[in-house]
Formats: sequence, C-alpha cells, structure tokens
Amino acid sequence: MSLEWVFHVPPLRNVEVSFKIRALEPLRIGAGKDTEGITDLPIVRMLWKGGQEVPVIPGSSLKGVLRTVGESLWSSVIGKYVHEDSGGNPVCKGASDLMKEIKNWKIPIDEARRRVARGLCPVCLTYGVPGFMSKVLVGDFFPAYYSVGVIKQASIHRKKGTATNPREVEYVEPGSLFEGELTLNNAPNWMIALVLASLYLIDSGFVKLGGFKSRGFGAVKIEDLEVKAKDLKPLDEYDKELDADKLSDLGYAYRMWTSMAKELKNRYGDRR
Ligand SMILES: [Zn+2]
Repeated sequence: MSLEWVFHVPPLRNVEVSFKIRALEPLRIGAGKDTEGITDLPIVRMLWKGGQEVPVIPGSSLKGVLRTVGESLWSSVIGKYVHEDSGGNPVCKGASDLMKEIKNWKIPIDEARRRVARGLCPVCLTYGVPGFMSKVLVGDFFPAYYSVGVIKQASIHRKKGTATNPREVEYVEPGSLFEGELTLNNAPNWMIALVLASLYLIDSGFVKLGGFKSRGFGAVKIEDLEVKAKDLKPLDEYDKELDADKLSDLGYAYRMWTSMAKELKNRYGDRR
C-alpha cells in the first residue's frame, strides 16, 4: 500500500483554500487581560500594511476550532470521543512515544509511514501531534472591512459577592469581513473533505468562533471559498475520488466526508 502521503516528504501535492469570514454576530477573539489597553478585555490585533494595528482572526485560533470540529466529526463516526483515553490530551494515546520511537530507531521510511498511519487517528494525522507536523497550515485572517465595538459587562466580586465596576469588553461588529487562506500538504482526499466539512459546520452556524458564545457572539459565514487543486486522485486504496471543481460547495464537501468516513472507519475505527 502506498503511504507516501503520511510525511511531508516527498511533496506530492498542495491544496490551497482561500476564503473570507463574515461576522454575522459580534465576534470576540480575545487577547487576554490587558491592564494597559483601552478596554479591560481587548481583541487580538496585529500589524498590517502601512504599520497600523488591525483586528485579526489568528490562524492558530482558527486551526484550534477546526481541530475540535474534526474531533466531533470523527467521534460521531466511531461512536465515542476519539481521545477519551489520552489523559486529557486531545491527541491519540501514545502519540508522542510513537514519534520518539520513529525518530530514534532509524527504521525504514515505509515502516515508519505504516506505523504513523496505524498509530494516529484521522484527526491527529490531519492536525499533527508533538513531533509530527500538521498537514493543515492556517494563515492569519486580516480584515477587508471591520468596525470595533465595546460592551460593558457587569461582574460580581468573587469573595464579597457584590457588583464591581463593569468591565469593558471589545469585539468586532457584525458585517466585518476577514480574508485569508489555509494550505493542505500531502493531504489525502478524505483529509481535504474533513477540513472542508468542518468549515461547513462553521458556515452553517453549528460552530461559532471566539468568546462570549452564550451571549449571542461568534456566528460567522464563509464567503468566496476557492479551492486551488488540480488532480485529486486518491492517494491510497482507502482514499476516494473527489471532484476538485465541486469543492467550493461546502455542502458537497460535507457529504463527501460522510461517505468517506465509512471507509476510514474500516481502517481506523476498530482500534479507537
Ligand atoms: Zn488522535
């Protein structure tokens, strides 16, 4: 069986996915507590063209959401939480030992590929574990358009039980638009489908971004999705055909993931 795709070498193919994220509700990607900022709870900002600081959706934060959604998708396929035995770590049990073995034992590359493909679940194969690089690289999303708002949030003093001064909480207002891209390196078709199916759940409103979700924050829409891929032939015999021209339709990607997941379960499902 050809498992050449398991590592980043040799480079077999790159798939670029560019899209925009439109805030439908207030969106708050927090920068943590800032004692010197203008507000008590500022949003993340980064330097952009012209040296000005603008709100961003950091790639690391979007990747974290995609990984979590991927875990839910795979867990629903296998009928239990995929990383429940991992001692609180959201990676496969034994993943870091496996990667150390492969590094130290100098085993043949084909054997190393086989062990990684058997030892990691589809989510860990996609988003990486310590010692095994993610196949999905998510760039930072910078604004094409944005406006920022501030709400005052009353809080209760933990010990005294009395109201303290309201905190000022910063957010990006609905209508704001962010653009960026993610790249998949050596990703089989099922992996492309998994990532796009996760975007589908974000686009559909099942998954929200950022903080304050319980207060009606974080719903977004995915716009102008473009998948740059030429020939999406299956990368091994468990992989299936994917129509590159249809992939900008996230609903198609979601349906393809659902049908591919059955095949993957035959391969991975019995072990976890
Ligand atoms: Zn895993």
